[in-house]
Amino acid sequence: MVVKAEAAPGAPRSVTILGSTGSVGTQTVDLVARDPERFPVEALTANRNVALLAKQARDLKARLAVVADPAAYAELKDLLSGTGIEVAAGAEAVAAAAAERPADWVMAAIVGAAGLEPTLAAVRRGAIVAFANKEVLVCAGSLMMEEVKAHGATLLPVDSEHSAIYQVFDFERTDSVTRLILTASGGPFRTRDRAFMAAATREQAVAHPTWDMGAKISVDSATMMNKGLELIEAHFLFGIPEERIDVLVHPQSVIHSLVEYVDGSVLAQLGTPDMRTPIAYALGWPARIATPAERLDLVKAATLTFEAPDPVRFPALRLARAALQSGGGAPTILSAANEVAVQAFLDRRIGFLDIERIVEETLTALPHRPLRDLAAVREADADARRVAAGRIQAIGATAVGSR
Ligand code: NDP
Repeated sequence: MVVKAEAAPGAPRSVTILGSTGSVGTQTVDLVARDPERFPVEALTANRNVALLAKQARDLKARLAVVADPAAYAELKDLLSGTGIEVAAGAEAVAAAAAERPADWVMAAIVGAAGLEPTLAAVRRGAIVAFANKEVLVCAGSLMMEEVKAHGATLLPVDSEHSAIYQVFDFERTDSVTRLILTASGGPFRTRDRAFMAAATREQAVAHPTWDMGAKISVDSATMMNKGLELIEAHFLFGIPEERIDVLVHPQSVIHSLVEYVDGSVLAQLGTPDMRTPIAYALGWPARIATPAERLDLVKAATLTFEAPDPVRFPALRLARAALQSGGGAPTILSAANEVAVQAFLDRRIGFLDIERIVEETLTALPHRPLRDLAAVREADADARRVAAGRIQAIGATAVGSR
């Protein structure tokens, strides 16, 4: 991870938010709106939620608003007419917003591999990139980290676990780090058996016990694939091999992750489960900025508990570890197949346990070729989506009945 010379604390920092209408995006908007002088907004982007995007653009006096879905262009233009805010549409326009707008700081909060090009565009401009969009690092980890180095960009993790590690990781003496310990809430099915999970509905899967998040990451938390993706993300961000990254289930989500050092010391970052804390850490970095997040009261929390993850009930973690060990395009395939399967589950086309099955079958069906360039990433991603879609169709043919 490349760290730039420190900016003057409190100096204005222009901002672009990719995925401003999502869960991370709206929480970033909330923080930016508290100090508009310090955080002038260049561009905001969404997929198709034009009503919210237009409101945010007006409220924050953004220079540009971009919607990825071209069909939503006319409505966005209409909603912003007379404001002087530029409007654009299409996937290329989202990437161009990251590439051509001179924002000092870019929040990468698009969900899924759709964030690859825009995030890369910000990295290639040498921006400070606040990085929430973990699928990008999972699908193109080595290439992305090479680009970060080559362009002198700064990658600041936003995932609460990686932000925690970043805050206690000794970048000067990486040899002294022996283990990373990623904490996991365990998700809504932590205490449920496989029979319950087999019949789980969309509503049950997205009802996360401690975090309020977008639909995709909520389902990933329920399968624990989220922790698998985070393990891969941590490997690329901190350069620690897979066998030295542990996962620890901690249902209260107070300790956000830990770093173990060679002398036996273990350093952790704690806080209430509020994404505005890690977002603010990245937004203000290297200074800290105030947030309205509830303060941690350890007397009130009283008991913090820990469990080992159950590999039998939650095989997604094993699949992610195996993909990282296999290397090459395996994590790309894992992430793409998972994206397609989670969407099918959210659309009620498959059952909850079909998600892990589809991911495993897709990983088995495809070769894990080395990823020499972005074209290879796109190919592995497209192949995985095709195979996963075929599996979903086959499941659909055997009827999902009441789902
Ligand atoms: P959401 O689904 O809430 O938001 C996703 C955002 O991306 C929305 O602005 C959406 O626009 C936009 N988007 C979706 N598809 C596309 C596309 N094809 N092209 C361009 N923009 C698109 O997701 P979250 O905010 O929950 O998560 C975002 C990322 O951050 C994910 O990678 C997630 O894993 C990660 N993350 C999220 C956390 C959380 O607390 N939510 C915590 C840690 C990491 P629209 O609204 O128009 O659909």
